[in-house]
Amino acid sequence: MFEEGISSIRESGLLREIRDRNTPQGRLLSIAGKNLINFSSNDYLGLCNHGEIIKAITDSIGSFGSGGGASRLLSGGTALHGELEKELSLLKQTEGALLYSTGYQANTGSIPALSGEDAVILSDELNHASIIDGCRLSKSPVRIFGHKDTNEVESILKKIRKQRILIVTESVFSMDGDIAPLDTLYHLAMQYSALLYIDDAHATGVLGEGRGSLQHFDLPPKGFVVQMGTLSKAVGSLGGFIAASSEIIRWLVNRSRSFIYTTALPPHTVAASLKALRIIRDEPSRVEKLWNNRETLMSGLQGLGVDTGASETPIIPILLDDNSSALRLADFFISKGIFAPAIRYPTVKRPRIRLSLSSSHTDEDIDSLVKTIKEALDCGLLS
Ligand code: PMP
Repeated sequence: MFEEGISSIRESGLLREIRDRNTPQGRLLSIAGKNLINFSSNDYLGLCNHGEIIKAITDSIGSFGSGGGASRLLSGGTALHGELEKELSLLKQTEGALLYSTGYQANTGSIPALSGEDAVILSDELNHASIIDGCRLSKSPVRIFGHKDTNEVESILKKIRKQRILIVTESVFSMDGDIAPLDTLYHLAMQYSALLYIDDAHATGVLGEGRGSLQHFDLPPKGFVVQMGTLSKAVGSLGGFIAASSEIIRWLVNRSRSFIYTTALPPHTVAASLKALRIIRDEPSRVEKLWNNRETLMSGLQGLGVDTGASETPIIPILLDDNSSALRLADFFISKGIFAPAIRYPTVKRPRIRLSLSSSHTDEDIDSLVKTIKEALDCGLLS
């Protein structure tokens, strides 16, 4: 029934296949028996396989068992869930926070709840699929603005006659690694009485000494700002969250379908996130190392004249012209012991290798990557 569709995906060079690893997430991976240096994960702070976090998980299983067993509004939550929400609201300096099972669910559940038929959503053209899906589920008219184009945002805002307006943007864009103009968007939202919804998935643990994008821009988390985040990237665990005013949190508890109609996160993932947040707070050297690694890699890449687009963060794309070049380069990397897969349409318009750095990478890892990229240039796999 789907063979024809699969063939056409394959012919376009867009077929995706699953490659599972045999080792924990970390700077080194083994995939299909091959040992590789890993530049593909969002484990920015090396917390996916940390001894103290594993101990916290084991202890929590002793206290609370392994499964959630019910939605949060029934008996699925534990004292740990409340504790984590408290920690998240402290991290984000908001009145409250609410856990979701994933970041994807946070976006698909909170955007519709905060908007609706009477609202209008302004969304950056490069926003993540989970934001796009949240907008689709909202039944709101959606106005897509050009990437980071605050002039366009303002000209749309000037013409809107709706009661509720939601401006939605990623803070760190997941595929380009650039940063949204949050200072301008913040002031526009304030001026036009809009809500500013910030997806901090790649900023939490990365920007603003790990606190996220508002801290980076030194903007106060006022009531019109909604900070979404995930616990699955720098925090090394699983789960999404919204940090916002207590009014917004209470509204989401009552109206956000992906919060209400799903099983609560299992307590051990919550325990893992709690421990990880404390490590991030107590060991600022992790965030510093991550940024040092970015500087080291960027200076290597700039020396080679590689096109890394607009990257400003530990997400660094190597931009390519077509799918087959991206696939060939990814295979070449694997042959040289480096894992950095190709990213293609529909995730991005322009094919690329998405390099993502971790604080756990060593100077030698980065050196190997730069040397391999030089070899790729020398043999014409990259121009
Ligand atoms: N927002 C952005 C910008 C993301 O990159 C992702 C994950 N790729 C998500 C949301 C979803 O988060 P999660 O993986 O926790 O579902």
